[in-house]
Amino acid sequence: MNEPTAHAGDLTLRPFFWRATELFPEKAVVSETRAGRHRYTYADFGDRVRSLAAGLDAIGVTEGDRVGTFGWNHHRHLEAYYAAPLMGAQLHTVNVLLGDDHVEHIVNDAADDVLLVDPGDPFETVERLWDRFESVREVVVMSDDVPDTDVPVRAYEDLVAGHDAEYEWPDVDEDQRAGMCYSSGTTGPPKGVEYTHKMIYSHALMVMTPAAIGIEEGDVVMPVVPMFHVNSWEFPYAVTMAGAKQVYPGPSPDAETLVSLVEDEGVTLTAGVPTVWIDVLDYLDDHDADVSSLERIVVGGSAAPKGVMRRYEEEYDVSIDHAWGMTETMSIGSVSRPKSWMADWDRDDKLDKRSKQGLLSPGLEMKVVDDDGEEVPWDGDSFGELYVRGPTVAQEYYNRPEANEEEFEDVPASDESGGSEAGRSSARWLKTGDIVTVDEDGYVEVVDRAKDVIKSGGEWISSIDLENELIAHEDVVEAAVVAVPHERWQERPLACVVTREGADVDGEGLRRFLTEEFPDWWLPDDVAFVDEVPKTATGKFDKKTLRERFEDPELRWTPGEE
Ligand code: ADP
Repeated sequence: MNEPTAHAGDLTLRPFFWRATELFPEKAVVSETRAGRHRYTYADFGDRVRSLAAGLDAIGVTEGDRVGTFGWNHHRHLEAYYAAPLMGAQLHTVNVLLGDDHVEHIVNDAADDVLLVDPGDPFETVERLWDRFESVREVVVMSDDVPDTDVPVRAYEDLVAGHDAEYEWPDVDEDQRAGMCYSSGTTGPPKGVEYTHKMIYSHALMVMTPAAIGIEEGDVVMPVVPMFHVNSWEFPYAVTMAGAKQVYPGPSPDAETLVSLVEDEGVTLTAGVPTVWIDVLDYLDDHDADVSSLERIVVGGSAAPKGVMRRYEEEYDVSIDHAWGMTETMSIGSVSRPKSWMADWDRDDKLDKRSKQGLLSPGLEMKVVDDDGEEVPWDGDSFGELYVRGPTVAQEYYNRPEANEEEFEDVPASDESGGSEAGRSSARWLKTGDIVTVDEDGYVEVVDRAKDVIKSGGEWISSIDLENELIAHEDVVEAAVVAVPHERWQERPLACVVTREGADVDGEGLRRFLTEEFPDWWLPDDVAFVDEVPKTATGKFDKKTLRERFEDPELRWTPGEE
């Protein structure tokens, strides 16, 4: 066994690795790959993580270097999740779905030293951008062999096979940087957020507790949220720490693949964005599949639709844990579960609570403030921006001092004097950019993003509420509501709507439909009929593009016009 070290008491990833490989060596890690289903044990994983670290060391990766990854969810990527931070380097997971300009910006901004890249589309992106990358020294293709290319590459399996599993971990400090993710850029160019060992440790423990997600050794966990998106909500760390069997869906996580993994591997817990679970429901409607092992799905990233939650519960006896979070909170910042005294509430009342974004995760604090910086009451109605802080909340953006000033609230002078060195990291409030209400029971509900909420004559209109109602119209397939400038009211809502083929509905008809639910001043002034709502790389509505596209009033339908 390893000797205790100077940093043995630090909150680092080392005990995660130790616990999984020493206490649960027989547990399985299963991955769907293009070459078929791959399966090995935590013991094998442990050996390969050490060999990978030795291999990275041999190609010059040293403490503080950044190891970028372009990868889907599979065992090799999991190995990198441990090898890089444990050897004192920093794992930077790059979103493989971003456009070229964003990828170039992210890799150069982070100054990645080495890239570990999946074959196929992710490698093609690297190949295309190779001449534009400024800092990358080595490209390792996460495969047995390498593609035919002009980029200097080596095969991951050669790197692992060429080095023995005796690699000894150096001392790492809990404040050392272990991870890095960029926000997906829904509201501007991507911004980098760095995670220290201590942050990952704290987040994983939080996720493991029943007060957040609750992960047990007996669970079989399938993280569907990509490992390039907020570290798959940090599941690869929490699940390994728990010693649970893990199942990774590989480069094509479509509904058929997910359902077959649930059936074959006995998945009990899985996690991903709402669209994934809508696709799975559609698939289950048309196929005879046995998903009876499944107990819970963590759904987040955008709001979990109530109808989808209800169907999983009623038809499949699967409960949905609706979670909220962001890159800056390392993902899981709140989860919605009824409190114990709500147990005898009827199903619909419980569903109303569970479809909110929920209760702040243990370890965090929040406040909700209006435009004047005043805290709003917890009455379920008053809107304000959600501020959060705690050990798993980023304190700053990498390389972006101007964004730091905008998006973090500095510590008031009076608080500073009382803050100890150890408490320093929980002192700064992150302005989440989410507009929320909080009800009497403390449940947060996201009603909009600060940049999307429509500020009309000093009052706020929720674009999400309008969208949800519009989508309930039988002729509407998609609806995104954005603010457009207005001389008198500063901003007014514009509805961008995709209608069903052959539908016979006009702007006036849609406004009339909305009058049943909303006061007059909430009704969109304009309606634009579009072929498709533009989306970001993570599938969210790209409202920035819509706002720009429809700035010109000529392009919109306005009441009173033909
Ligand atoms: P980006 O900010 O670039 O979209 P993130 O992936 O960090 O990238 O997204 C975080 C945002 O996603 C949150 O601030 C919030 O607006 C939205 N979000 C996350 N989870 C939920 C949820 N359960 N319901 C509604 N919105 C959510």
